[in-house]
Amino acid sequence: MNLGANGPAGGSAGGIERSPQAGTRSMGQSTKFQNELGGGSSLRAVITGGAGFLGSHLCDYLIERDWEVVSIDNLVTGAEGNVSHLIRHPGFRLVRHDVSKYIEVPGPVDYVLHFASPASPVDYLQMPIQTLKVGALGTHNSLGLALAKKAKYFLASTSECYGDPQISPQPETYWGHVNPIGPRGVYDEAKRFAEAMTMAYHRYHGLDTHIVRIFNTYGPRMRLNDGRALPNFVYQALTGQPITVYGDGKQTRSFCYVSDLVAGIYRLMASNEHEPVNIGNPHEITILEFAQRILALTGSNVPIEFKPLPQDDPKQRCPDISKAKRLLGWEPQVQLEEGLRRTLQYFQQQVAAGPAR
Ligand code: UDP
Repeated sequence: MNLGANGPAGGSAGGIERSPQAGTRSMGQSTKFQNELGGGSSLRAVITGGAGFLGSHLCDYLIERDWEVVSIDNLVTGAEGNVSHLIRHPGFRLVRHDVSKYIEVPGPVDYVLHFASPASPVDYLQMPIQTLKVGALGTHNSLGLALAKKAKYFLASTSECYGDPQISPQPETYWGHVNPIGPRGVYDEAKRFAEAMTMAYHRYHGLDTHIVRIFNTYGPRMRLNDGRALPNFVYQALTGQPITVYGDGKQTRSFCYVSDLVAGIYRLMASNEHEPVNIGNPHEITILEFAQRILALTGSNVPIEFKPLPQDDPKQRCPDISKAKRLLGWEPQVQLEEGLRRTLQYFQQQVAAGPAR
């Protein structure tokens, strides 16, 4: 069943409007977003995981557009430092809370965006139960909040829903190839459950929901020690350690710069699409080539050391973004070279500031 433009919650014509019970607020400027897409005075969003890598960039993006933002984070993988520049902003609040437990937010809410979850393989292997809980219970609680507030809902899902894909590039219509009981299953299955739960709230309760499948994303505020390829390689190159390439390095990924991702998310937020949409950069490279790019960029001459490939590590990953292009008029703008340069600057400051967090 295609719930696209005519789904049960497809009431708004591609805009974000004030929820019916929302009252007058202190920040009353209308914004470009609201002028273009409907709505009056400032809109109020709740972002779970709002002190994380992606969540904090989303906070910035919405605050810049005069939204009020309540960022909820238990700071397990997020960091206060990611939003410290926003703390004094009158439209921003950071609440320390685990969204796997009941979420209470006083006052009106126009949009709930669920971004809380460990997202690096190393993190979710170290926190398997928390990862399952935030994908399952956290999604249920945040959906419940959206329903209670008559707010719109946005789920941060993942290309991991496709598992170790047997087709490439991966379109949204592909159902995936996931090992449910493997080490990555805690993340993959939690997110697949989260998608199913979100569609159930859409179909059963008529909630206006959106689902993005996020492919590998990079940029400032990634944790230097989160275990992913990019922070590992950069940290290793900057500190004179061998670059650890897992397997033969022929596995592929496609890296999207964070500003491109957030721009795509914003468009999807305002759309009438309820089924999942891939957002990612379709420029696919092997991990070995990626390591070489980082060596060249940093000017480092450390050796590449091959290590065992982790279990169920996807052999290829590349988004088919034709749906995002067609529905949202979106495609990435930042070339890998430029994105890596900006990210490197951030990591250089982090390394200079002391041991990896
Ligand atoms: N990888 C690697 N060396 C590292 C970290 C990761 O070769 O130090 C590989 C990993 O096995 C995977 C790819 O890089 O094939 C991307 O891994 P990452 O953890 O960044 O994210 P994933 O795409 O697997 O979620």
